[in-house]
Amino acid sequence: MMATYPTLREGLGVFAGYHSAQVDVDVRLNTNESPFPPPPAFLAALADAVATVPLHRYPDRSCTDLRADLARLHGVRPEEVFVANGSNEVLQCLLLAYGGPGRTAAMFEPTYAMHGTIARMTGTTEVKGERSDDFSLSLAEVRRVLSQGAPSVTFLCSPNNPTGRAEPKELVEGVLALGPGLLVVDEAYAQFASWTALSLVAEDVPLVVTRTYSKTWSMAGFRLGYLIGPAPVVAELWDVAALPYHVDAVKQTAGQLALRYTDEMEDRVALLVSERERVAAGLARLPVDTWPSDANFLLLRPRTRSGPEVWQALVDRSVLVRDCSSWPRLAGCLRVTIGTPAENDAFLAALEDVL
Ligand code: PMP
Repeated sequence: MMATYPTLREGLGVFAGYHSAQVDVDVRLNTNESPFPPPPAFLAALADAVATVPLHRYPDRSCTDLRADLARLHGVRPEEVFVANGSNEVLQCLLLAYGGPGRTAAMFEPTYAMHGTIARMTGTTEVKGERSDDFSLSLAEVRRVLSQGAPSVTFLCSPNNPTGRAEPKELVEGVLALGPGLLVVDEAYAQFASWTALSLVAEDVPLVVTRTYSKTWSMAGFRLGYLIGPAPVVAELWDVAALPYHVDAVKQTAGQLALRYTDEMEDRVALLVSERERVAAGLARLPVDTWPSDANFLLLRPRTRSGPEVWQALVDRSVLVRDCSSWPRLAGCLRVTIGTPAENDAFLAALEDVL
C-alpha cells in the first residue's frame, strides 16, 4: 500500500550520527553525565515536595520561583533567566526565535553536534568554520565565517564538546566585537572550567549563556536547562518559542531544591576535576593522543588501532565510551566521560588491555 503521510521536510537529516549507543555495560562513560546521584538529602526533600505539588493544576507557566533562585545564584535579575527542558531545548527555542528559513547560524567544527542538528530542525542554514589543528579557534576564522554568512546566531561551546577546552575570554570578547547577530555560548560544562562568559552578559550585549542541570547537578534524568541573557531576549523567548506550561511543576521544584546543595555539587565537581587529571596522566602512559580538557571528559585517539575497533573492544570489556570517529575532523577519536574513581580505573585497565 502507498504511504498516505507526507514525506519529511527537506534538509532535516535528523540526528544522523548523534545518538550514543545505549548498551548494557558495567561502566558507562559515554554521555558526560555525573557519575554520582544527587545527595540523599535532596532526594528526601524532593519526595516531600512532590507530595504537596498540585498535580491536577497546570504549573506556573513563567517558572517564577525557579527563575528567582537561578537569578540569585548567578547575581542577575529573574527577567534575565529563561528555562526549558534541558539546554538542548533552550538552544532549540533560540533558533525557533532567531533562526529559521532565510537565516543562518554559525558554528566551528569540531563542536557539539546538536548545534547543527537543531539548525536543520528549525530550517536554519548552517555556516561552518574550522578550528585549528590543536582544536583552538582563531578570531580570524570567526571573522571570515561571520563576514561571509552574516549569521543571526553564532554558537560557541565553552568548554567545547568534544574537544574539551574552554574558549579564552579574549576570543569571546573578540567575537562579540565582530557582530552581527546573537552570540550563544553553550556552557554545559562551565563548572569544570576556570572562567565563564556569564560575566560578559549585559543588557546592551547580544550574548546569551546556556547552562544545564544535566552534568554537575546530577540531574540528567530531569531534563532541565536555562540561559542567562539580556532581558529583552529572554522576554522574546517566553513570548514566541516556549510552549505554554512547558516546564512541569515537579521539575521546577526539583530545580529549586537542587540549588540548596551547591556545596555538595562543588565537591562533586572538584573530585571529577582531580579524576580528570588522573585519567589524563594514565592516558599519557598509553599509545594514544590526547588533548587538554576543561570539562568532565577527555578526547583521545589510539595510535595503534582504529577508533571503532577500540570502542568495540572496550564494550567487550563492559566499558562504554563515545565513538567520535565519524564526526568532522575526529577520525580515530573516542571521548571518555570522567566517572567515579573505580570506573576510571576500570576504563584505564581495559584500555591498557586493548592497546
Ligand atoms: N550542550 C552541550 C555542549 C552538551 O554536551 C550537552 C549534553 N550532551 C547539552 C548541551 C545538552 O544538555 P541537556 O541535557 O541540558 O539538554
